[in-house]
Amino acid sequence: MRSHYCGALSTASIDETVTLCGWVDRRRDHGGVIFLDLRDREGIVQVVFDPDTEEYFKRADSVRSEFVLKVTGRVRARSDATVNAAMATGEIEVLGKELDILNAAATPPFQLDEYTHVGEDVRLQYRYMDLRRREMQDRLMLRSKITSAVRNFLDAEGFLDIETPILTRATPEGARDYLVPSRTHPGQFFALPQSPQLFKQLLMVSGFDRYYQIAKCFRDEDLRADRQPEFTQIDIETAFLDEREIMSITERMICELFKTVLDVELPAFPHMTYAEAMERFGSDKPDLRIPLELVSIDDLMQQVDFKVFRGPADDPAGRVAALKVTGGTSISRKEIDDYTRYVSIFGARGLAWIKVNDIAAGVEGLQSPILKFMPDEIIAQMMARLGAADGDIIFFGADRAQVVNEALGALRIKVAEDQGLVADGWAPLWVVDFPMFEEDGRGGWTPLHHPFTAPACDAAQLVASPGVALSRAYDMVLNGTELGGGSIRIHRRDMQEAVFGILNIDAAEAKEKFGFLLNALQYGAPPHGGLAFGLDRLVMLMTGSSSIRDVIAFPKTQSAACVMTNAPGDVGAEQLRELNIRLRQTREAASEE
Ligand code: ASP
Repeated sequence: MRSHYCGALSTASIDETVTLCGWVDRRRDHGGVIFLDLRDREGIVQVVFDPDTEEYFKRADSVRSEFVLKVTGRVRARSDATVNAAMATGEIEVLGKELDILNAAATPPFQLDEYTHVGEDVRLQYRYMDLRRREMQDRLMLRSKITSAVRNFLDAEGFLDIETPILTRATPEGARDYLVPSRTHPGQFFALPQSPQLFKQLLMVSGFDRYYQIAKCFRDEDLRADRQPEFTQIDIETAFLDEREIMSITERMICELFKTVLDVELPAFPHMTYAEAMERFGSDKPDLRIPLELVSIDDLMQQVDFKVFRGPADDPAGRVAALKVTGGTSISRKEIDDYTRYVSIFGARGLAWIKVNDIAAGVEGLQSPILKFMPDEIIAQMMARLGAADGDIIFFGADRAQVVNEALGALRIKVAEDQGLVADGWAPLWVVDFPMFEEDGRGGWTPLHHPFTAPACDAAQLVASPGVALSRAYDMVLNGTELGGGSIRIHRRDMQEAVFGILNIDAAEAKEKFGFLLNALQYGAPPHGGLAFGLDRLVMLMTGSSSIRDVIAFPKTQSAACVMTNAPGDVGAEQLRELNIRLRQTREAASEE
């Protein structure tokens, strides 16, 4: 129907007759001349109808916002006075000759240029309208460029795109499963994949030594900020590559992606151990754009009587750490109170601080409610260790190490954002040498990644001391966001059984749930490993968006629902009967409880 996209027209087409199709962005009547801004995915162009084309002029006069039009006209230069520098097509306009109204439109539920005043629920309810907006079009177009650049890279590196099932068994990644009842197997359920993890490993057993898939994953997680119940991963698996080679190839992929799509040269990716990341940043995904670090002072606090610090300093599971903020003496009491409330979210019971007014004056030059609890000599040693200078504020965390890391790790980011201390640009890194397991709080262990991750030690050592074993896992982090993570996998049955044993999965349960994997491991499984990138987060970072909902065409709300289609929805009695399902109570009764 069309000869050109509206937004792609330029002075190159002057005097050409063109046919455009698009939506009416705006209609203006300027004393006998009708101006229509016509919009398509590439942008907007101004179309002018004057009264000499009487029939079409009348029609142009009758159109309203969001009508769909087909317009034929001649491209002409705008006069100097009417050039619009703010518009990509602002040097030209189209003198309309013919106009077809392809469809009328009801009054839009919100003005597309004033959407900021519209609640997100309304935007999601009318998502097809919301997506007409320039910034949403740009984001989804960039998303498409990103996936195509990733495919090009992986295709060129010999990776094969292979699909894996959506109706499957549980693939544990630490979340709840979405279940689908089976009609043909009464009382039984499929699980939607939390990731293609087990299938990609089986593909390695089959010999497809480089696999990728842009895969939908499903995780029924508790409501947490900016998570989606279904999301997309760039899922990768290789055989016969070790962790160094896997990190190198995927690092090249991300670097090429940034170069192709954003024309950005990413800096080198340092490798940092998990232990170092926790020690210095209180986080396993540190934002290296922020020049603030946690410093341990347990040894010094073991020499004070101040119980609040001394207790955690003496406790092997405790930690006392300081966070120095350069130039932070200007932080007010009220702001400190706000930060104290903020760290309490992470379980911290308070937030001690010291302001450094005049370091040369010794303790006299410091200001803090806690100075009186510590000997001057210890304070002096602490100041020296922190390199404290006039104008600094120092915050303290003293508690279980996990609480201190989470609280000060989050405070580090918050203070840096508030004080404008986050540097521009991109700060990538690899975090390596993760622990295999963490305590599950009930005397057992849970895997830090997933139970198929290979340990860096042998099975006997692993079973003897699971708490200290490291894994062969690696995470790619960019600007404080975990972009992707993976590992070398277990490829021997005995090791997989040892890990299941530590996780308290007994032989019968292992056979029932993962028998197919255990079997496969004994038929010549090659050494293999891989990783997965979160595509939504990657696109979010690359488009500078603040939520993954903004880079997904049809996302769910925070409560995991779709307000446009009203999913999830009720199911009729007949369908339930076919599925052999009887509801224990109606939805109304359940929501009244
Ligand atoms: N399956 C893992 C995940 O979804 C990634 C991997 O280990 O490849 O996080």
